[in-house]
Amino acid sequence: MEVIYPDLYPIEIPPNTVMLRGLGLDSNVYLVRSGKEAVVIDTGTGGNIERYFSLWLSEGYINGLKRVVIFNTHEHFDHIGGNLRIKGLFEKMGVDVLFAAHRTTAEVIEKAKGRIILDYAYGRKFPGHEVEIQLEDGDYLKIGRKKLLVVHTPGHTAGSSCLYLEGENRLMFTGDTLFNGTFGRTDLPSGSPEELRESLKRLEEFEVDFGLPGHGRYIEDWRENLRRVGGLL
Ligand SMILES: [Zn+2]
Repeated sequence: MEVIYPDLYPIEIPPNTVMLRGLGLDSNVYLVRSGKEAVVIDTGTGGNIERYFSLWLSEGYINGLKRVVIFNTHEHFDHIGGNLRIKGLFEKMGVDVLFAAHRTTAEVIEKAKGRIILDYAYGRKFPGHEVEIQLEDGDYLKIGRKKLLVVHTPGHTAGSSCLYLEGENRLMFTGDTLFNGTFGRTDLPSGSPEELRESLKRLEEFEVDFGLPGHGRYIEDWRENLRRVGGLL
């Protein structure tokens, strides 16, 4: 593997999932592939997209793709800032790209609501763009032969959602709702501690082998982590 950035390395979670720990202020960025289709979950601030993309290319993760869906777990700039850049890079390769999010997050992205997105805190202006696939709690996002369940988990923001994928490992992509050892802050616009408490309770219903958060290390002890985090609320 060519070393393009010393802190950047792929963490492979079988089958077909690649985790990149976000560089700098970026969220983590995930790629889940099924055949000629893939979903990218969150895109960071946009400042490091070229590095993530060249790593995917050099490691063969995105060769032969025909269609990519970019799913955002919530409205914050450090998760959506790279959306348009990553779409552009895939389109240069001839790959069709669609955006997907819970409908509440989609509306904020389409209207570029800075009060929620907090792009100004990063010294940037998020331009807004269409979100073609608008999802509700209980909907499935279909990628090749995989089906990812949308679990609406408000609290960090009103549109925050997790994605659940069953397979060889049961994965839950948790955005900023749940981290390894803590939970997402609830004091930002559209956040709510009461809603977050309910959302974390709901996450207890799922059997999960790997929790894949928006920042930091992955979670291997799903129930124990939820129990510890619940005690902090
Ligand atoms: Zn956030």
